[in-house]
Amino acid sequence: MTQKFIPYGRQSIDQDDIEAIVKVLKSDYLTTGPAVNEFEGLLADKTNSNYAIVCNSGTAALHMAAHAIGLSENDAAIVPSVTFLASANAMTFTGAKVIFADCDPATGLMTKDHLENAILRAKKAGLCPKVVVPVHLAGQLCDMEAISKVARREGMFVIEDACHAIGTTYGPNLEHVAGDCKWSDLTAFSFHPVKTIAMGEGGAVTTNSSDFAKKLELFRNHGITRKPEEFISEDTGKDRSGEWGSWYYEMSEPGYNYRASDIQCALGSSQLKKLDMFAAKRRELREKYYSLENSLPEGIRLANRVPNCSPCPHLMIALFDNDFLGKGRNHVMEKLKNDGIGTQVHYIPVHLQPYYRTQTVGVDFSGTLSFYNSCLSLPIYTSMSPRDIEVVVSSLKNL
Ligand SMILES: *Cc1c(COP(=O)(O)O)cnc(C)c1O
Repeated sequence: MTQKFIPYGRQSIDQDDIEAIVKVLKSDYLTTGPAVNEFEGLLADKTNSNYAIVCNSGTAALHMAAHAIGLSENDAAIVPSVTFLASANAMTFTGAKVIFADCDPATGLMTKDHLENAILRAKKAGLCPKVVVPVHLAGQLCDMEAISKVARREGMFVIEDACHAIGTTYGPNLEHVAGDCKWSDLTAFSFHPVKTIAMGEGGAVTTNSSDFAKKLELFRNHGITRKPEEFISEDTGKDRSGEWGSWYYEMSEPGYNYRASDIQCALGSSQLKKLDMFAAKRRELREKYYSLENSLPEGIRLANRVPNCSPCPHLMIALFDNDFLGKGRNHVMEKLKNDGIGTQVHYIPVHLQPYYRTQTVGVDFSGTLSFYNSCLSLPIYTSMSPRDIEVVVSSLKNL
């Protein structure tokens, strides 16, 4: 049978994306040029936020956000275990200790109860819980109102990991959009090709605080400022004329090079302009899956849908019974692959990674383990057709 292969996810690149990149290649700036500002303006607009700071990965975005809130040693960062490594690692970079939170086994999302439990564990360990990083798995938002209430009570910051959730709308009338920071201080995005918007590699942080925006910009670019009103070292920086040197810059703390190039940003802008179309397409595909859920064999269902949220889905997560229909996950993945269908596991619980696992001995992660033992991500991406989903579902039926 020669049928096209359907991966679990892939980017969607058109001629206009290619032309946008070529235009930059022929221009004067390959980096720190106008395409960067254009992307940031567009993203702030799309996320209904005051500031969008672009960088070169979602991991960098999370690290920049952690730095902006002043996370450091003796602090604890609360991160759900069901996520990509980077959500936890970016907090670890600052010297803070990660305290993992459990999740709802039907959605993979952290709830306020899981947060409360993790806060207690952090305090018992003598740590100050300073931030929570809710992860909007597959594009569905955590209950941010409830989570933010707990965080505010505890004097904690909230950094949303919205790497899966660009384009998701939420609220009683779906009047809010992921990244607007209604219930958070900062929101991190990834624009890795497998996510909804592709930049090759790329990420961004959105915020409504000018203070955070300034810190994010400094940290992204070596800690360098070129604004005379911020300079302090006259002996080094002032010219004989008494004016600050036109060549002069200052650094008050070391930053990183987390800049995204104009090449990446041109692709990002071209893609962002199609976000509404991408989101409509992904929503349609997700609906198609749910419309066929009842026809799936016993022992397979789809992850629960959360209320007051219309996700622009990055992943389509199915939940199998624990022994994968008596066959095991490898066998199921292999069988689907033979039918031309790619699947993946999102995620191996981060608290069980060798680096982190010694810290979590004896803690109840029953939701996380149940989710991990049953999850399998089915194909969903913009250029897929509803007909492809029928192919996936019929292959599931043949298991
Ligand atoms: C992809 C992803 C990241 C990291 O983004 P990169 O752009 O790959 O660095 C972080 N958190 C989550 C939930 C992700 O899916």
